[in-house]
Amino acid sequence: CGIVGFNGHKNAAPVLLDGLSKLEYRGYDSSGIAVRDGEAPVRVVKAKGRLSVLCEKTDDGRAVAGNCGIGHTRWATHGEPSETNAHPHCSDDGNVVGVHNGIIENYQELKDKLVKKGYVFYSETDTEVAIKLIDYYYKKYLGTPIDAINHAMVRIRGSYALAVMFKEYPEEIYVARKDSPMILGVENGESYIASDVPAILKYTRNVYYIGNMEIARLQKGNITFYNLDGDEIEKELVEIKWDT
Ligand code: GLU
Repeated sequence: CGIVGFNGHKNAAPVLLDGLSKLEYRGYDSSGIAVRDGEAPVRVVKAKGRLSVLCEKTDDGRAVAGNCGIGHTRWATHGEPSETNAHPHCSDDGNVVGVHNGIIENYQELKDKLVKKGYVFYSETDTEVAIKLIDYYYKKYLGTPIDAINHAMVRIRGSYALAVMFKEYPEEIYVARKDSPMILGVENGESYIASDVPAILKYTRNVYYIGNMEIARLQKGNITFYNLDGDEIEKELVEIKWDT
């Protein structure tokens, strides 16, 4: 339901929790964050219920080190509200971790295919299927994260805003979008992700609107956009002039 992301120099977790608190008006049943601290394995913390539970679990984010991360508030569509079904979802080896807004319509068909390939599923969500499908293509074609996401996008039917991190790319976050809102911001060598403007307005007013069926690669303070062919596309930075 709500997505935030941060890749910069500050501690990520407090920025993520602050951003999620600005999206609370949308309603949710659980929340979670995933944070990278350089090459160290990703840290995932999730909680059922209000965001305050996640804040308590992480000492308002201070207990989770790292300056690159993603966060999510969930409005359950597939699977009951629970800590297991809360995002982020992760491939077993931690290769891919991600959050998702929207609905994957053909998730059962994709799940059956992945189970045949040996994937194990722990949640009832359509989201876990999308994350493991990206992991599957990443390993199958030994390509870049952009290639893997592209392959998954071609096969997924439905709506999504996805924010994904790859183990082998500790300083990057990838975003993909179809029929679900998402904006990206930059300021002072740092990059931000939000499913709605209020989540990042405190940090930046300079944003990019990612189009349908486009992918973005977020480095610290630098965002690159790609189309489904994997070709780089130009985007204009837009200044938000209004207040919320
Ligand atoms: N369909 C996903 C789920 O049920 C995402 C829901 C949302 O947009 O929060 O977990």
